[in-house]
Amino acid sequence: MMTAAEIRQQFLDFFASKKHQVVPSAPIVVKNDPTLLFTNAGMNQFKDYFLGNRKAEHPRVADTQKCLRVSGKHNDLEEVGVDTYHHTMFEMLGNWSFGDYFKTEAIAWSWELLTEVYKIPKDRLYVTVFEGDAKENLPKDEEAWNEWKKWIAEDRILLGNKKDNFWEMGDTGPCGPCTEIHVDCRTDDERKQVDGKTLVNNDHPQVIEIWNNVFIQFNRMKDGSLEQLPAKHVDTGMGFERLTRVLQNKQSNYDTDIFTGTIATVETIVGKKYTAGDDKESIAFRVLADHIRAICFTIADGQLPSNTGAGYVIRRILRRAVRYYYSYLGYKQPLLHQLVPVLATQFEKVFSELKAQEAFVQKVVKEEEDAFLRTLEKGLKRIDDIINTTKEVIDGKAAFELFDTYGFPIDLTRLIAGENKLAIDEKGFEAALNEQKERSRAATTIDTEDWVEVFAADKTSFVGYDAVTADTKLVKYRKV
Ligand code: ATP
Ligand code: MG
Ligand code: MG
Ligand code: MG
Repeated sequence: MMTAAEIRQQFLDFFASKKHQVVPSAPIVVKNDPTLLFTNAGMNQFKDYFLGNRKAEHPRVADTQKCLRVSGKHNDLEEVGVDTYHHTMFEMLGNWSFGDYFKTEAIAWSWELLTEVYKIPKDRLYVTVFEGDAKENLPKDEEAWNEWKKWIAEDRILLGNKKDNFWEMGDTGPCGPCTEIHVDCRTDDERKQVDGKTLVNNDHPQVIEIWNNVFIQFNRMKDGSLEQLPAKHVDTGMGFERLTRVLQNKQSNYDTDIFTGTIATVETIVGKKYTAGDDKESIAFRVLADHIRAICFTIADGQLPSNTGAGYVIRRILRRAVRYYYSYLGYKQPLLHQLVPVLATQFEKVFSELKAQEAFVQKVVKEEEDAFLRTLEKGLKRIDDIINTTKEVIDGKAAFELFDTYGFPIDLTRLIAGENKLAIDEKGFEAALNEQKERSRAATTIDTEDWVEVFAADKTSFVGYDAVTADTKLVKYRKV
């Protein structure tokens, strides 16, 4: 069986053999884009090439990109741990053409890689092609259809709608159709049972999307019309954890060697076995194995947990993880920080930044866990009381009290409420939150973030934590 590390390397080697320059992942934390807190796709770091603001140094590039999808346009948080293939943090393998090759090569190479290098049986693959959208003035992607016809049986090419098969950066700007590749991981028996019925996307939990190939060929104008771009681009993204699951013949991403090391460590710590089921305990194992990656890699890339912005996203993920081990694995001590060394070692050769800052990351995570565990027990008692006296909707003020006094992020309260078939008065919560903000704005004029940018020049990049104070509040930036 191929290891995950080998699978990643084969992807990069394959595109290097097709004259791509292999580049490092951009940081998962985005520091200079007001529209984005975290990298959520491989293309983020190349945005300026598509917009024509900058010229690519190399027309063909490939990489593996650390991505996080827990806020904004892509928010998969609620799926994570419940299903077996959506993560908070994941690696997106990608290849790009900046005004160079287009559909013919992109499609031929994805087919070659999947079927000849990775040897996925051809009758396990499906592809989707954009069907067009008359209302939006968008044509069907006949070119992609014709390219696929060279490789795959026509009944395995399916048409997809604008939501799944057309990509736009925003209301205006570069856009184009995409073609997606799905793998049917059902057992032969299962396949016989649904006999003949084609399944893609979420129709069956074992038929999963692995690779998206976007063809950026139009420019959407302010009046809604489309112009052909003078230079056409290819932008692809393949989920590394999903690919590994397919190639290692597993039913779940968590059964691959990307996650088994972490899960085994959790088993040892809590003295329980992971049974890969749909029960709360199994979900808790998956949530921990998932969330600790997001926590480690964001901190290693320069974002500390805090009460605002990107820092609060990390704090929310961390507290969610703490509540899972506390409530469902019966473990009442700090746990997450014990997993940092597992990941630091596992990823040393690909993302060495974690190993380089292992002790520091561990310290930050431990402090966060300690702080939340101090109020969690009381908070859980309080929410129990609230739940017992609530019929349908938890009062906004009560949700705010949980937030303010016990440090429960609203999505954690929402999760627990949902488990008890209750909703939250979200508007009431917002109102209480805003009231408090007004009060504190009046009380102080200094707005402090948890980290400090030492150099604020335009060309800075995060190079690591040093000069760490006792409460880990100082982050150092260096000019590059
Ligand atoms: P899905 O429909 O499964 O949510 P998507 O269509 O949102 O995926 P894309 O934006 O097309 O995903 O991203 C390209 C690839 O990245 C996907 O084909 C998938 O393999 C992978 N991917 C996307 N989201 C996640 C995630 N949350 N966790 C793991 N892999 C993901
Ligand atoms: Mg998605
Ligand atoms: Mg999709
Ligand atoms: Mg997709």
